[in-house]
Amino acid sequence: MTISLHSCRICKTEDNHSTFIAYEMMFGTREKFEYFQCNTCDCLQITDIPKNLSEYYPPKYYAHTPSEITTQGRNWLIRFLQKQRCRTAIFGKYYKLNNLLKLIVDLPTSLHERVNEGLLIKEIINTAGLKNFDEPILDVGCGIYSQWLANLESIGFTRLLGADPIIMGDQQYGQVKIVASELSDVVGKFSLITLHHSLEHIPDQEATLQQIEQHLLPDGVCLIRIPIVSSFVWEKYGTNWVEFDPPRHLYLHSLKSLKLLASKTGLEVFDIKHDTTAFEFYGSEMYARGIPLTDKNSPWINKNSSLFTEEEMDDFKILANKINLSGEAGRAAFFLRKILA
Ligand SMILES: [Zn+2]
Repeated sequence: MTISLHSCRICKTEDNHSTFIAYEMMFGTREKFEYFQCNTCDCLQITDIPKNLSEYYPPKYYAHTPSEITTQGRNWLIRFLQKQRCRTAIFGKYYKLNNLLKLIVDLPTSLHERVNEGLLIKEIINTAGLKNFDEPILDVGCGIYSQWLANLESIGFTRLLGADPIIMGDQQYGQVKIVASELSDVVGKFSLITLHHSLEHIPDQEATLQQIEQHLLPDGVCLIRIPIVSSFVWEKYGTNWVEFDPPRHLYLHSLKSLKLLASKTGLEVFDIKHDTTAFEFYGSEMYARGIPLTDKNSPWINKNSSLFTEEEMDDFKILANKINLSGEAGRAAFFLRKILA
């Protein structure tokens, strides 16, 4: 770690901030990048945003190649009846009808799914205060396929849009449409806008949050899930922290810097939930041992990986749960709403 003069792109403080050197380890090119951590807002950020950023998202990058696509195998009647049951489970409506329907169909499994093994879908819907299945929902930076939107469709939501400028063309999966667009080009306003681990990839943070504010309905909610530098794992692993991911992760926010960014754009954080997983530990442990994330024996891509014992993987899960509860996890979900004048 050295000290040098930089201007923070979040709070604009020019100071002698601490700098760090980190290496590309997802693909293992080991290309070197410099980051600095702001003395005032604690945001860890890349010193120079590469001009050729798109080159760091090759075709094998996961946003271009979804691991699995959920197809709607259920017939229309089952889906219709399950939707009525979800209406009771999520919005608390029509209990009497539900008592009858639960003898006929189960709730869809997607209702109890987690997003990237993190937050429960139902928890997100409830915290966002959605009131019915026709509320419009936008997922920003979702890649060519959004499992989150697909799950919402299977529960019963009908107005589902994804947007990602790095994909090659527009996509359509059932009622889920995904457009190859910047957020600024998306038309409409939304009850819920989600960014599941995409904000950290976007060069202009303030302009992005301004766009989100403009795309929210008056009582709309934005959910931002990002890596958080205010964490046990950053303290333990430093630049080997798997969430560092240079140069794709341009910003590793602190709790303070994300709240500051929100307040500068007419938004406020009203809830924070930590939702890290074992990945944070086994990935960082791999980097500390010099093994790329996409190594053929990596548990990230290989279910039969022998890199860690079952016991070690269980310990990583236990540690992840522990730091989620203590608020020291390296992944957090921020719920934001408009600041009312
Ligand atoms: Zn700052």
